[in-house]
Amino acid sequence: MLRLFLAIFLTAASMAANGPVYVVLWFDTEDYIEPAADDAALRIATELDKLGVRATFKVVGEKARVLESRGRFDVIRAMGRHDIGYHSNFHSIQPTPALYLRGMGWLDGAAEFERRERPGVEDVRRIFGATPSCYGQPGSSWAPQTFRALLRLGIPVYLDEGTHVGIGEQPFWFGGMLNVFNMGRYQLRASLDDESALPQAFERFDRAAEQLEANGGGVVSIYYHPTEFVTTAFWDLNFAKGANPERADWKKPPRRTAEESERCYRILTRYVEHLKSRSGVRFVTARELPLLYESQIPHAADRASIARHLKEHETFLITDHGVLSAAEMLQILLGMEPAIVEGPSARATTTSHLEEIPRPAFERAKVDAAGFIRANHRLPAEVWIGSEELSLADFAATLAGDDGAGSAIAVRKGNLEIEKYVSNDAWGSFAWPIHPEGFRAPELLEMARLQAWTLKPARLK
Ligand SMILES: [Zn+2]
Repeated sequence: MLRLFLAIFLTAASMAANGPVYVVLWFDTEDYIEPAADDAALRIATELDKLGVRATFKVVGEKARVLESRGRFDVIRAMGRHDIGYHSNFHSIQPTPALYLRGMGWLDGAAEFERRERPGVEDVRRIFGATPSCYGQPGSSWAPQTFRALLRLGIPVYLDEGTHVGIGEQPFWFGGMLNVFNMGRYQLRASLDDESALPQAFERFDRAAEQLEANGGGVVSIYYHPTEFVTTAFWDLNFAKGANPERADWKKPPRRTAEESERCYRILTRYVEHLKSRSGVRFVTARELPLLYESQIPHAADRASIARHLKEHETFLITDHGVLSAAEMLQILLGMEPAIVEGPSARATTTSHLEEIPRPAFERAKVDAAGFIRANHRLPAEVWIGSEELSLADFAATLAGDDGAGSAIAVRKGNLEIEKYVSNDAWGSFAWPIHPEGFRAPELLEMARLQAWTLKPARLK
């Protein structure tokens, strides 16, 4: 009996020491060409119900409309019992988001994405009866302007995979949204093509879970597409390499046999059962995710330690009280309550001979910068000292280095360490069979570097 009590005590103690492992299981529900994919979504949603697991179905606008027009309210209801996200209005019909946003700026690009995507969000909301909990780009067609638009569309979470931006293979804040993205070794799946490889998939999950538990907890991201369970090639190869065929010419993807499909469903069920069987593992939807994390807006902050940090390193700061982005720290140094703001819309250069700024001129510049941020909910690209300008990075470093006493303030060079979290691979990050051949988007990565002022790790409560 004593031994039993001891065993229970030790188990409880080890569970308390281990951080929680949250599994986000999501399905990009996008194939509006092959009707068998409707049945696959229904089957997956129903199987997961039986397992007591809620997933997130990121639905394409056209897919939602097609389900409605085919009268598949059984599929809509079954997915609606889970969480509903958004996966763009038309997914692969040209031009895809990165293609048309590459040549656009911050504000006009966000407005254009909103113009194209709002009807899709509204259709998903009408058909499923809820505002989508999250968004993820089609393929690798990621673009920073989407973040501004998504917040305006009422979507708070970015759930997808890609390499454009990321921190430590765990969720992070960027562009005002909670991102589950670039999850590296914590993005897992069991191959649907080989049931004999399941034990290795279990082992990969167990190893990832152990690492997260030891680190105080974290998220594992797992995704599939319902269409994968019934087809052997993607439905959207119709639009490969920038192709723009008419609807009447769209070809259906090749089908799996019934036995193959059964194997796929069986693999998913066995995989989910294994994950469930591990103590401390909890399935969460995109809608639940923000509740697990500390609020984006930091509560308390020590001005002196912020100044010390920002003077040398323009990157996020992790303290006992909270995690601060460079944008939040800049607001605090300007005497503002930190709010969710955007990064600058352009990169400015400091006037070359500006070395010292008289105190009154610098104080006016601070008031001016704060005024810009309050009016635009965005950081300025440059701060004016009369007719001369400081880049945002140099202004922030100069502000952080100011002891508040001298009659003149020495201009400091900013050190934008935060930009290292953005990809430099303008081809690889956008590689996708649907993009035109050789597609590169360095412009979008440069814009992402500017928005990295808002980047910081998300911390579990
Ligand atoms: Zn997709």
